Amino acid sequence: MWRPWAGRVRPAAGWATMIRVENHTTRPHHVAIVGSGPSGFYAAAALLDAAASEGPDVRVDMFDRLATPWGLVRAGVAPDHPKIKSVSAQYDKTARREGFRFFGHVHLGDDPAEPGVVTRDELLERYDAIVYAVGSQTERRLGIPGEDLPGSIASVDFVGWYNGHPDYVDLAPPLDTERVVVIGAGNVALDVARMVLLTEADLRATDTADHALDALVGSGVREALICGRRGPVQASFTTTELRELADIDDLGVVVDPEQVPAGIADDDTLAKGTRRNLEILRGFAESGPDPDARQRMEFRFYRSPVEIRGDGKVEEIVLGVNRLETDDSGRTRAVDTGERETIPTGLVLRAVGYRGLALPGVPFDEDTGTVPHTEGRIGEHSDDHRREYVVGWIKRGPTGIIGTNKKDANETVRHLLADLAEQTPVEHPDDVEDWLRDRCPDLVDQTGWEAIDAHERGRGEPGGRPRVKVVDRDELIKVSRP
Ligand SMILES: Cc1cc2nc3c(=O)[nH]c(=O)nc-3n(C[C@H](O)[C@H](O)[C@H](O)COP(=O)(O)OP(=O)(O)OC[C@H]3O[C@@H](n4cnc5c(N)ncnc54)[C@H](O)[C@@H]3O)c2cc1C
Repeated sequence: MWRPWAGRVRPAAGWATMIRVENHTTRPHHVAIVGSGPSGFYAAAALLDAAASEGPDVRVDMFDRLATPWGLVRAGVAPDHPKIKSVSAQYDKTARREGFRFFGHVHLGDDPAEPGVVTRDELLERYDAIVYAVGSQTERRLGIPGEDLPGSIASVDFVGWYNGHPDYVDLAPPLDTERVVVIGAGNVALDVARMVLLTEADLRATDTADHALDALVGSGVREALICGRRGPVQASFTTTELRELADIDDLGVVVDPEQVPAGIADDDTLAKGTRRNLEILRGFAESGPDPDARQRMEFRFYRSPVEIRGDGKVEEIVLGVNRLETDDSGRTRAVDTGERETIPTGLVLRAVGYRGLALPGVPFDEDTGTVPHTEGRIGEHSDDHRREYVVGWIKRGPTGIIGTNKKDANETVRHLLADLAEQTPVEHPDDVEDWLRDRCPDLVDQTGWEAIDAHERGRGEPGGRPRVKVVDRDELIKVSRP
């Protein structure tokens, strides 16, 4: 029999190269994927695709610390972007394939005595390989005084709150403020700014978690001020997200014409996407905000947060005014001019980036917040981790769009398959599921998740919403066991 992967350890080109199998065995390989976001699902699909063609017989068990799969597609992507969230249909398809199992409420941790926790060593005993797909679970810090005052909130928490992530249900952001200051000039900054400004009708059509929906509808917010450290040229918004602002009901967009002067988009040394963004921003600067709009979104570039102030809660933020300097390598950086602006506000949303968290027993680079690897293989950096791999944000950092994770996962899986072909499968006990159920009393399996999914969609139907999310852990368990 001819199989593509066996016979060499590090294929230089595509894994489909046909090579004779040296160590064929009839026992299937079992792969544990930790994390059920896009990267985990793309890795699972690539493994099952290989198994379905001429690859090794591979079974996939996917674990998530939450009861629900899809990672940031459920708990990150903005609720007013249902089309983007609909990518989850692909993941459902993968989940229904033979050889795939989902186990929610299983946390990869370090204390096996803690209910719901399994350890790396325990997985290595039972699986031929582990793929870490855990994303970037925390925030980058600003490192300024007042950052931890009540009312200064990381976008990780705020986004989790409105998307119904069970960890953030009790956040209670102070929305009784007229102005929200958003720090950051990327898509997450735009998402959170939009979410605090959307009209009631727009919000009620989404799957925003009910606790957040009520708070946002009743909020006193009229303005979101988006502050970018550098200029409009360096901002990392995507064109679609900028362009859609013009179509949002009751929203006036404010851009200072001096910050985005006429002709700024004509520089043909700039990337096409950047030039399109500059044209859109320039359009906003020229037209000015709709005078009838009740809500206002203002972009203010060349501003860095210097201090957040208040008596027991956020009352104002001090911004430093920057100018740009380009160094010899062509890198543009913001330099403080010493000038200051003080802006009254009750809510500061910090959207300056996500950051990975170290996993127990797994190498971690503190500088980048990622797991060191070579094309997804952790074993290239540490002999003790020869059967461990990474995909997605924990592999390459919090960049790129959902689709970027597919190419990234394919790269890792290509190497994983080549390595599996060199390995004799480990003894994978038949009773892994019993072991898991014993260790994780709140376990939610694929059938349980499908029950949650159907329940949420059903609850959404009468109001014309995609779903009404269940956010309470106990209720999730109850619904998963009808
Ligand atoms: C606010 C926001 C909005 C975004 N909007 C868009 C958009 O509109 N369009 C777009 O293309 N991209 C968007 N993205 C980017 C996209 O969400 C990411 O590219 C993608 O989710 C990264 O996938 P991932 O699998 O690496 O991580 P994640 O999606 O974060 O998935 C990681 C999973 O691992 C689980 N996990 C973590 N630790 C453990 C553990 N110890 N044990 C068990 N499970 C664990 C988590 O619960 C989670 O389910 C957005 C990102 C953010 C933050």
